[in-house]
Amino acid sequence: MTRTTPPRPLDAASVFPELAGMSRTATRLHPRPGAPTVHESSVGGPLLWPTDEPWASCSQEHDAPFGLKTPDEVRTLRRTYAQDIWTTEDHAEVSRINIGHDPSLLTEGPHPLIPVAQLYARDVPGLPFPEDTDLLQVLWCPFIDIEDQSGSEAVQLRWRRAEDVAQVLGAAPEPAYVGTEELIPVPCVLHPEQVREYPATHDLDPTLATRINRWEEDSDTGYRGALSVAPGWKAGGWAAPFTFRDSGGPDELRCARCSAVGEPLLTFDYAEWDAESHSWRPVEEAHDASTTPTQVTVGSGYTLQFYACPVDPRHPPITVMQ
Ligand SMILES: [Zn+2]
Ligand SMILES: [Zn+2]
Repeated sequence: MTRTTPPRPLDAASVFPELAGMSRTATRLHPRPGAPTVHESSVGGPLLWPTDEPWASCSQEHDAPFGLKTPDEVRTLRRTYAQDIWTTEDHAEVSRINIGHDPSLLTEGPHPLIPVAQLYARDVPGLPFPEDTDLLQVLWCPFIDIEDQSGSEAVQLRWRRAEDVAQVLGAAPEPAYVGTEELIPVPCVLHPEQVREYPATHDLDPTLATRINRWEEDSDTGYRGALSVAPGWKAGGWAAPFTFRDSGGPDELRCARCSAVGEPLLTFDYAEWDAESHSWRPVEEAHDASTTPTQVTVGSGYTLQFYACPVDPRHPPITVMQ
């Protein structure tokens, strides 16, 4: 089933002509639980990975202040929470898993990273694929504060040419334990859709931003919620609006290798839409549809953005939580 964003209530450039020419195309990924294959774009699905390439790993030391869970236990919890009726055994199993394993069981690294997303170029037009590549893979370490990991091995992007993967790895290694189960995506198939975005007010000239804020006060339509940046998981487009940060100097968006200012590459939002952005709910979705299909949460309900170096997208990604 496709997913279709309803037309915007009005075109922001018709109210603020200065916005004309500032629109960008973003690809909403519309992840929904499913069983993707290595040959499809996915969130939390299997990656097209060559057998002759070592799996991505992280050898940082990790604190594990709470009980540990295995990846299988995380899947069991989710399966059980989705059931309407619980048996006595289910209650016992959930209690046991939630107590967790002794943190001292955590061995020293390297720990295999887990697949977060895989995007074929055909599904995300406009994403800056390096020459001769058509597949982007995102992996991270399920132990860490992802947002502090710009340039670290705990968050890795792989750009590939699918055709080069002659022998596909069958079963990917998994970490023995995970520290942050909110970093494990539910396997999702994608329903990519291109939408038009205007910049969030923090990316606009302050005078224009002030006029938009005043207009919003007297309008039934929110610029931030309905007219500018799409919510949810997406590729490209404009930076997500700030939630808790009140400013973002360009310095924090600079490439660690060459200092170029990064461009929005991927956005992993805590929800596909919320009360403020409900007008972006696809027409195919029921009012009570789940807004958190991936079950990935960064921080407590923030948006994680990956920025790519415009000089060379292979430079380490810049990660920002906002
Ligand atoms: Zn790690
Ligand atoms: Zn760079």
